[in-house]
Amino acid sequence: MSIRVHNLTKYYGDQKAVDQISFEIQTGEVIGFLGPNGAGKSTTMKMMTGYMAPSDGTIYIEGVNVAEEPLTIKRKIGYLPENNPLYTDMPIIDYLHFCAEIQGVHRDAIKERIRQMIDLCGLDDEKHKYIHELSKGYRQRVGLAQSIIHDPDVLIFDEPTTGLDPNQIIEIRKLIKKLGEEKTVILSSHILSEVEATCDRILIINQGKIVADGTAESLRKQA
Ligand code: ADP
Ligand code: ADP
Repeated sequence: MSIRVHNLTKYYGDQKAVDQISFEIQTGEVIGFLGPNGAGKSTTMKMMTGYMAPSDGTIYIEGVNVAEEPLTIKRKIGYLPENNPLYTDMPIIDYLHFCAEIQGVHRDAIKERIRQMIDLCGLDDEKHKYIHELSKGYRQRVGLAQSIIHDPDVLIFDEPTTGLDPNQIIEIRKLIKKLGEEKTVILSSHILSEVEATCDRILIINQGKIVADGTAESLRKQA
């Protein structure tokens, strides 16, 4: 079992943004988190990554309680937040070097790790370009490279294709699929075709509750 979420709840003031949700994810699964804007996807992801404390409930990732060991969790997880900010005043290669350092990648391994990320994310032709020179699609590839540079086991991507044009979306989806061959992945989206194209299983979240859980095919049959 990779992830176990039990009765997870978040209030913002009086508003319940996430309402007692429970689910389990097996190691290696690629899960789509599908729901309209405001459904509670980002809030759930921020709690799973240890960036936000739940109002109630527990999250275990590979046996580690997120609330108790947030630093262990940050090493295990690769998190790409929605609208991920990048320092734009640096060439890609320097930026990834900086990210690797702050993620604690061992000094002797950094160069090789950056080479792998540039290769995996299709950034070889651009690696000396400044981030402010890149298209949104390439910036998002850098964001993906950044989020996985410390070789985490579980990848959590929040609306990673928002704001991209169709060709860029196809490239980012391909990359996520490739990552999903080796890792446990959670991908949030408000677009059905996005999670259908990439995920083994879909959790539908609405008004802070999980309202459906299954393969795209099984959810179609229920609908
Ligand atoms: P999604 O990612 O599915 O769009 P969110 O988790 O961002 O949903 O938001 C769930 C609900 O909580 C929404 O009604 C949103 O406006 C509200 N919300 C999100 N973040 C905050 C915050 N920091 N303070 C207050 N309300 C918030
Ligand atoms: P998302 O799709 O992630 O919810 P938003 O544009 O709704 O993106 O939110 C952007 C940021 O503002 C997030 O950090 C979110 O937590 C916060 N936020 C969202 N809704 C509210 C709100 N009603 N009050 C305060 N902060 C909010």
